[in-house]
Amino acid sequence: MRPAYSERPQLVVEPVARLIEEFSRLPGIGPKTASRLTFFLLRAEPELAHGLAQALHDLKDQVRLCQRCFNITVEEFCPICLEPSRDQSVICVVEEPLDLLAIERTGAYRGLYHVLHGHIAPLDGVYREHLKIDELIARLRTEAVDEVILATNPNTEGEATAYLILKDLVPLGVRATRLARGLPTGGDLEWADIDTLGAALEGRREL
Ligand SMILES: [Zn+2]
Repeated sequence: MRPAYSERPQLVVEPVARLIEEFSRLPGIGPKTASRLTFFLLRAEPELAHGLAQALHDLKDQVRLCQRCFNITVEEFCPICLEPSRDQSVICVVEEPLDLLAIERTGAYRGLYHVLHGHIAPLDGVYREHLKIDELIARLRTEAVDEVILATNPNTEGEATAYLILKDLVPLGVRATRLARGLPTGGDLEWADIDTLGAALEGRREL
């Protein structure tokens, strides 16, 4: 039997088009890669696609932010905050959980963290109140902290964010430091190589 032709034939059926569109919304994935991934999943065993769907569901369903430092966790507190051997007198302030992981990989740091979840970017509508800065100040009022390492990224937004926090630290009398120069400027901490980042941490300077 010959199919009835519709007036505007849709070449890519809706479920396929939809997944291509969803993939295209991810950073670094253009329409070509999105199509390739979609057709790969179409051909693959059902378990692969179902496993991926389940993992995505669990990611949003189970992962939350640590009540203390805003690192990602599945409990009330993150593994770092729950580790009693960590130095409780130092807080390293980072923009994203990925920066925290980069610093952990160096093995050069044994203190606590505070994750801001972004940086100041007025042009994108990101202001102080969108970051976990008030939460940091609240911690400094209740926890016995000697030093805050402002480990925001070595780029314009990161520097602006560090400066903004520094203004809040001065009245509290908390010692503030910044990672040593030498990190590739304009880049993100998460891309810095382990040795360079470790050295920047060891050679941190007073602000
Ligand atoms: Zn934590």
